[in-house]
Amino acid sequence: KVSSVAKLSAVETAITTATNHKQRQRPSGAKPAVNFVVVGHVDAGKSTLMGHMLYLLGCVNKKTVMKYKQEAQKMGKSSFYYAWILDETDEERTRGVTMDIARACFETENRKYHILDAPGHRDFIPNMITGASQSDAALLVICATRGEFESGFDLGGQTREHALLIRALGVSHIVVAVNKMDTIDWGKDRFDEIDAILRTFLVRQAGFTKTTFVPVSGISGENLVQPLPASHPCRKWYNGPTLIEALEQLPAAERPENMPLRIVVNDVLKSTANVLGLSAKVEAGHIEFGDKVFLMPRADLATVKGVCIDDHTGAAPPTMASKSEVCFAGDQILITLAGNFENEAITAGNVICRGGLDCLVPCKRFTVRIVVFDVPIPVIRGTKAELFAHSLCAPCTVKMLKCTLDKATGEVLKEKPRCLPKNSTALVVLETDTPVNLEAYSKCKPLGRISLRANGITIAAGIIDTAHTEVNAAL
Ligand code: GDP
Repeated sequence: KVSSVAKLSAVETAITTATNHKQRQRPSGAKPAVNFVVVGHVDAGKSTLMGHMLYLLGCVNKKTVMKYKQEAQKMGKSSFYYAWILDETDEERTRGVTMDIARACFETENRKYHILDAPGHRDFIPNMITGASQSDAALLVICATRGEFESGFDLGGQTREHALLIRALGVSHIVVAVNKMDTIDWGKDRFDEIDAILRTFLVRQAGFTKTTFVPVSGISGENLVQPLPASHPCRKWYNGPTLIEALEQLPAAERPENMPLRIVVNDVLKSTANVLGLSAKVEAGHIEFGDKVFLMPRADLATVKGVCIDDHTGAAPPTMASKSEVCFAGDQILITLAGNFENEAITAGNVICRGGLDCLVPCKRFTVRIVVFDVPIPVIRGTKAELFAHSLCAPCTVKMLKCTLDKATGEVLKEKPRCLPKNSTALVVLETDTPVNLEAYSKCKPLGRISLRANGITIAAGIIDTAHTEVNAAL
């Protein structure tokens, strides 16, 4: 009791203490960044396709690729060598508990892309959620080979689950790479068949607003970066974009640089009673040396002693920010804070914000719009689950089923349902055991996307409609 009163007053202090900061603009000329997550059934060819694309874009040198080719041949896995490129660039994956996904970057003339390659296995769904909840768009890789698309799409396959999950997390644009076209001789009929089945599902059932289908071969590299030659069999019936062109057509995400500061802590690199070295991601706003900030949910006051973009490529991240620069929404950073900290209390899922009106108020109760997955038992009032959001994981309880909704139109279908069967969309009230750093999706997307897991499976995912703050009422 005592500690909860103390915590409340610390948050109250943060809400009533405006922390000054300079208004900053990201230097012009910086290319807009696009984050996209690569999803699809296992063996659809995700890693091969991305590895090959990175190679064609000049992100990996020929020598490295040749080395992989030889090593792969020695191991009798010669077809896998492009996939290893992504593995090579994924040293960051060892960074903290949440990051078990391969990351890579590439640039075009117009944009900077950050790829998150989510493993396709069922066990990796939590990692995929981490990837999806940081993404502006998704690349869904489908295997065109007869029988394989079907097994990935039908019951038990991950294609549906991945698509529903990323849509539920607010991603509305999807590019579909219809891969392994070489195995079906670039046949139009097969491409059209997949397009018809999948597009209906993606638009009608999952609710994506924009879909682009591109025929490709990850292994040969055809139609990834260079347009197909006029003599190519696919050119008889396909005049659409290459894969990279389809990605270039995705709208660049807004970067909420002038929104209230939100920095999500991904990992604690160094922790003493008065200095913290953190690896973190700026989700909104901007930050620089000397800024006074609060660390939520405990509302510890801290001063920024160093902050820089985290661009290291070594295996182990440095423990402290090596220099100071202004960092903006979208940046992955290293940040050093000075203050009075209770070491164990600072973990992944903490959020750095400013005080006063810009403060993030930790809450326990949320109204959430969720999509229920293919669950064995319907979700009812009292269902207990683990709530995942940004780098946070917290136990929670479903407190109320408000109504079920039509997936496509959002219309109310039924008020106060007794249970939520699989594949339903609904508004529910969730309560966490302790206050957590989440807020409405309309205020800050990355802090408003959640998923729920119980007994080792993902039961639902969605976005926060309202965060119910008790502190405001108390003030
Ligand atoms: P992931 O599990 O989705 O990442 O799939 P991988 O990239 O590991 O590929 C799975 C298998 O499919 C490997 O044997 C690849 O060589 C093969 N593969 C990937 N892309 C293609 C393609 O375009 N054509 C053919 N024929 N095989 C491919």
